[in-house]
Amino acid sequence: MKKLLFSQTTEQRHWVGDGFPVRSIFSYNDRAQEMSPFLLMDYAGPAIFPAATANERRGVGEHPHRGFETVTIVYDGQVEHRDSAGGGGIIGPGDVQWMTAASGLVHEEFHGPDFAKKGGRFEMVQLWVNLPRAYKMSPPRYQGILSDQIPVVSVAQGAGTARIIAGEFEGQKGPAMTFSSINLWDIRLTAGAAAEFTVPQGQTASVFVLDGKVRLGTGESLPEASLAVLDPQGERFTLAAESDAKILFMGGEPLHEPVVGYGPFVMNSKAEILQAITDYQLGRMGQLAQEVVR
Ligand code: MN
Repeated sequence: MKKLLFSQTTEQRHWVGDGFPVRSIFSYNDRAQEMSPFLLMDYAGPAIFPAATANERRGVGEHPHRGFETVTIVYDGQVEHRDSAGGGGIIGPGDVQWMTAASGLVHEEFHGPDFAKKGGRFEMVQLWVNLPRAYKMSPPRYQGILSDQIPVVSVAQGAGTARIIAGEFEGQKGPAMTFSSINLWDIRLTAGAAAEFTVPQGQTASVFVLDGKVRLGTGESLPEASLAVLDPQGERFTLAAESDAKILFMGGEPLHEPVVGYGPFVMNSKAEILQAITDYQLGRMGQLAQEVVR
């Protein structure tokens, strides 16, 4: 049975642009090695937005990234994205956007048009996933993964489900293409259910509780919005739901490479960060096409 290394949570929210009221659950500044290859997790919402007024667009405008991937999981609401490499799309509840910034791009992230028009409940997770050194300067890529492409596996004798976004569980493979071994599962358990999970020995492993109260097999209780980081040693862990629970499992092969980050750039050395800043300032990460008029 895997041991709990530590758990953490935060009450503090800040706005990313004017669209995303975010709790920063972990970041590469303090947890780069324990969480590798995951660099950062922002938990946006849950929040209720009113219907947008005419011409109002909530979100965050053009900004760059280099050296990693952004993975956006929408639980409620709608997110629209465009990038300078030609990637883009609108994703809704259950959908995932897996954007490989790699050598660099600029993008914008806004509430989707249908959601903006009506308003309502918004809940989203954005993960930053590090790239191995060999892929940090490879071309950008965009994967829009819709809910019906994500296999659903039954757990806890049918009292729960796991949607396999990336990696593999009980023979079901997730659709996301990744550059290193990653498991990313959207787990739901009904109150009273307990499920056992097996993951590769030696990989990092953590669970984030979005909703409900969850107890680890080792006894610790995890409240809402808490992250539990498990020992890479051992292959099995169990989650018991004391109320209906919504849980994100993140696991992966640690990269064992230096992590040097500065805002939207995460590389292996300070020289590479300075190069990223220069390249962005010189427009080498591209620019967004003129906005489409709707
Ligand atoms: Mn971004």
